[in-house]
Amino acid sequence: MIKVVDLGKTYINGSLGVEALKGVTLHVEQGQFVAVMGPSGSGKSTFMNLLGLLDRATCGAYQLAGQEVSTLDDNQLAIVRNLRIGFVFQTFNLLPRLSALKNVELPMLYAGIKPSERRQRAAKALERVGLGNRLEHRPNELSGGQNQRVAIARALVNKPAVLLADEPTGALDTRSGEEIMAIFQELHREGATIVLVTHEPDIARHAERQIFFRDGQLVRDEATVNPIDARDILNSLTEGRVTHE
Ligand code: ATP
Ligand code: MG
Repeated sequence: MIKVVDLGKTYINGSLGVEALKGVTLHVEQGQFVAVMGPSGSGKSTFMNLLGLLDRATCGAYQLAGQEVSTLDDNQLAIVRNLRIGFVFQTFNLLPRLSALKNVELPMLYAGIKPSERRQRAAKALERVGLGNRLEHRPNELSGGQNQRVAIARALVNKPAVLLADEPTGALDTRSGEEIMAIFQELHREGATIVLVTHEPDIARHAERQIFFRDGQLVRDEATVNPIDARDILNSLTEGRVTHE
């Protein structure tokens, strides 16, 4: 479903170049649930933004659902992003003036789906995440966990090929975080392909595969280990890390 080969990303700020991602190769099969871990600054969000087509790689190839996307122009990229990718952010990124329903309708608006169908599908997606009784609420009238569920409904509403999430539980308390993970697990059982960043081993245990980044490189890739071992791996990566300061 996802095939990236030798993906690299260098950010240029003035005269300073930061090589945030170095030659990352990864295949994610359809239906797989992968957790991405690693120290702060190791390139996890950079990687997710490339997978989510929110940013362009400096080098490397990326095939999504059989289509090479690294060569697409900006307009084509926006279409693939809207139709093929669901992205969930740590800070929800909902539009504050719009109701839950309208927020979830947005990706369908861009996809040109007619109003009655938009409304119906958005309501169904919200019911699916347990918010059937909150359709007209705006983000500031909902809890953090509920806002994240709206964001998940929005990410799913166009039936994307992959669901990407960058620290989706990072702004939530433990209980709301577990509720969000229960939704991801259910989606996984139903066959969704999921890549999720977290620095919490207790969250990562819900995935079936864990990959670890250090200094822009993918350094470990394995079946899910228990949270205690995952924490040990994270600690060793943090200690062993090369600093650029
Ligand atoms: P965290 O766990 O703290 O979220 P991360 O693993 O997601 O960290 P990234 O955000 O991918 O890390 O950052 C990787 C490196 O790229 C860091 O050194 C960061 O300073 C740099 N970086 C990220 N975004 C930009 C940007 N837009 N411009 C310049 N440098 C950036
Ligand atoms: Mg990050």
